[in-house]
Amino acid sequence: MAKGFHITLLPGDGIGPEIMAVAVEILQEVGRQLNLAFDLDSALIGGAAIDAAGEPLPSETLQACRQSDAVLLAAIGGAKWDSLPSHQRPERGLLGLRAGLELFANLRPAQILPQLIDASSLKREVVEGVDIMVVRELTGGIYFGQPKGIFVTESGEKRGVNTMAYTATEIDRIGRVAFETAQKRQGRLCSVDKANVLDVSQLWRDRITDLSSDYLDVELSHLYVDNAAMQLVRWPKQFDTIVTGNLFGDILSDAAAMLTGSIGMLPSASLGAKNPGVFEPVHGSAPDIAGQDKANPMAQVLSVAMMLRYGLDQPEAANRIEKAVQIVLDQGDRTGDIMSPGMNLLGCKAMGAALLKALRSLDS
Ligand code: NAD
Repeated sequence: MAKGFHITLLPGDGIGPEIMAVAVEILQEVGRQLNLAFDLDSALIGGAAIDAAGEPLPSETLQACRQSDAVLLAAIGGAKWDSLPSHQRPERGLLGLRAGLELFANLRPAQILPQLIDASSLKREVVEGVDIMVVRELTGGIYFGQPKGIFVTESGEKRGVNTMAYTATEIDRIGRVAFETAQKRQGRLCSVDKANVLDVSQLWRDRITDLSSDYLDVELSHLYVDNAAMQLVRWPKQFDTIVTGNLFGDILSDAAAMLTGSIGMLPSASLGAKNPGVFEPVHGSAPDIAGQDKANPMAQVLSVAMMLRYGLDQPEAANRIEKAVQIVLDQGDRTGDIMSPGMNLLGCKAMGAALLKALRSLDS
């Protein structure tokens, strides 16, 4: 009997429905090939949910997500909803979903695809072969620590305050996700902190070091965040998996992603302890090209691969999808965002068809 998974699809806004349609075809094909059954249900989020239900994250959507094995999200947002008060805007839907599912770990890969190497702003010899995974803590640290706010001092001056705080429990749970991620990759984990200055980072370093005795197959190293930023642009190939807190991870994951130079190719995963993970492209809803069949569906398709590997523990299915992306790029097929002279320009649907054909070719 086929192994079954229940997936909630959140197509959202802008190019979301277009790239989701491609992702669904790819998921169903890989399921057929490997005898995996995917039971798919769509739910509303973002602007589409505001229009249909008056709020960016209807309770039925959150409920459906909680009852799934994984959530596949496309993108939300658009000018139509930009003038709404901040608590009613599409972005609230995303934040509500992350909070509602307690997604504390954000995984952002930055892999240089050989066919797109010239899209990077760094030299070929520096970026060739780069394959990094940044594991960022998502629900703690300075973005959430108390006290925070703008206060008035006794002398009448304004003073802005945020607090960087982590409990040992928070560090341990992100640490375990990172060690386990490294185990699925090349087995090297670099923990990034500022332990030479910050007490919170000293605790971070102590806990991550203690955890390493449970993962003897993973080689652990530590870097201060300023050095890590420098090393990322100096010699990024030295990194396999990086684990870091919310603030440092926000900055380093964007820097690592930009080594690849192509936003239409970047997937991500957000994971929690008990709830299903959310898998989504890094890019937004690209309203400037929505409805024009110009979107690159590959970040969405690679998000399906991440869902299969990190959410459903189906590495063979993930490998097949990633291989199909490679085949299509090797053929010279490109959407507009990654187009270069001499390549074949395809729209979103035609790129979907090319990916499907490449995936089918692996089954013969
Ligand atoms: P964006 O990522 O949507 O677009 C930036 C640029 O990249 C645009 O020129 C766009 O056409 C291009 N682009 C993005 N994805 C592409 C793809 N798959 N194929 C081809 N080209 C692609 O960022 P933005 O323009 O700053 O934001 C647009 C909307 O998306 C806003 O409402 C914003 O709030 C929202 N947004 C949502 C998310 C999310 O859903 N996670 C993330 C970022 C932005």
